[in-house]
Amino acid sequence: MSIFAKIIAREIPADIVFEDDVCLAFRDIAPKAPVHILVIPKKPIVSLADLTEEDQAAMGRCVVVASIVAKQEGLDNGYRLVVNSGADGGQEVPHLHFHLLGGRKMSWPPG
Ligand code: 5GP
Repeated sequence: MSIFAKIIAREIPADIVFEDDVCLAFRDIAPKAPVHILVIPKKPIVSLADLTEEDQAAMGRCVVVASIVAKQEGLDNGYRLVVNSGADGGQEVPHLHFHLLGGRKMSWPPG
């Protein structure tokens, strides 16, 4: 069971900012920006590489939830939504997650 599955199950605490049947959003424990929130599907999908057609609605919902949370957080000047996938993508936690980053100007390209 991944650390995020334990957060969904309330086995470990997290600062949850949004929840519905499909998604959970909570603050990153080691924030890389003034606002750093993780939006995850409740279904235990490991990474983008593991998505199937049946995940389309859940992925769409996660993106909509990120937009809702960004508004909630007052990120009116913009923000970034990032998914790291696999070893080369820099993914550490094996449960698909969207990083919502905001509150500062982002640089490009990412490292
Ligand atoms: P990744 O590198 O897999 O794309 O991102 C994993 C993210 O999860 C990191 O930004 C890391 O700080 C965050 N993280 C890891 N463990 C925990 C945890 O137990 N609680 C919370 N809230 N965030 C975590």
